Amino acid sequence: MYLKKDMYEIRLESIGGFGANLTGKLLGEIGASHMEVETQSFASYGSEKRGSPVKAYVRYSNREIRLNEPVRRPDLLAIFVMSLAGKENLMAGVGSHTDVVVNSHEDHDRVRDRLRMHKGRLWVVDALDIALECKSRLNMVMLGACVRASGFIPLEFAEEVVKEVLGSKYPEKTTANIMALKMGYSRAECREYTDDKYPYEEYKEPQRVKGWKTGELGGINPEFGNSVTNSLIGCREGYVPHFIREKCIDCGLCDSTCPDMVFQFEKGVNKGMDLYHCKGCMRCVEICPTHALVESEEGRYDDNIGCIDLINKEFLFTDIGENSWVDSESTNNQEV
Ligand code: SF4
Ligand code: SF4
Repeated sequence: MYLKKDMYEIRLESIGGFGANLTGKLLGEIGASHMEVETQSFASYGSEKRGSPVKAYVRYSNREIRLNEPVRRPDLLAIFVMSLAGKENLMAGVGSHTDVVVNSHEDHDRVRDRLRMHKGRLWVVDALDIALECKSRLNMVMLGACVRASGFIPLEFAEEVVKEVLGSKYPEKTTANIMALKMGYSRAECREYTDDKYPYEEYKEPQRVKGWKTGELGGINPEFGNSVTNSLIGCREGYVPHFIREKCIDCGLCDSTCPDMVFQFEKGVNKGMDLYHCKGCMRCVEICPTHALVESEEGRYDDNIGCIDLINKEFLFTDIGENSWVDSESTNNQEV
């Protein structure tokens, strides 16, 4: 008997392209074919493209599973990208019963603060770094870390499933994948939090602002500039531009190149970026003539944390929830 409780629930939070969906399927396969428990595994995502939010859910039980809904109170929560910090429901249901596995190069306290994690055990693993080292994928590392954090899934079962499921499709990758799995397992480091620094978050059923009752006639969206006001944090793949003010000559090329009006100019001076709206395309890095913009890992510097709380306070920020925006004074439309 592997399970010590009636039901064990896992929620994986990611964006498209990192393989969270596959990780969920592999966890399901481990339960169903090796641990003789009732297993459920399904995912929820929007369009099949890189950058859109992905959630995968896995349940193990000693009894028949009759639930078919998102995991609201996870025993294990895995966060594949830190740029999701601050998103609604990300930390929902996390408490002293939860093991939270996070892909990050930062220390535990910093990760906890960015996630505003209530209580529980926080497992941090630099999955991107390990994946690059092994020439594998980030999701293999996260699978290893999840197996470890669960405390009851045997690593050898995960190895067998990776060999069976992925080995038949990509046999040339098996050695690298197994290495990544094992390194994720052994390098995930845990720290437990029992204090009340951040409050417990209840799971909130996602609500549509505009529906059949409240939508405009003909389904028109009357909000001005609505294509530039959405958070683009979820589109990024772990990298954002880092701005080095001392090297900037205020030429404005980044501002006219950026498709999302991220740069904030005041009286012809580049004041920095509103990274809430940056999708990480790196066009500005390519165009900058003085290398005042460089590609950097998200969160490596204080100014490039993709978190709404940390938007440069100098900017005039209009907070209306998901569709918030920063009012920008661009050099393109003001006298210098
Ligand atoms: S392109 Fe580079 S030098 Fe020019 S304003 Fe932007 S950051 Fe400054
Ligand atoms: S990477 Fe640069 S150009 Fe691309 S969205 Fe972000 S700030 Fe704009």
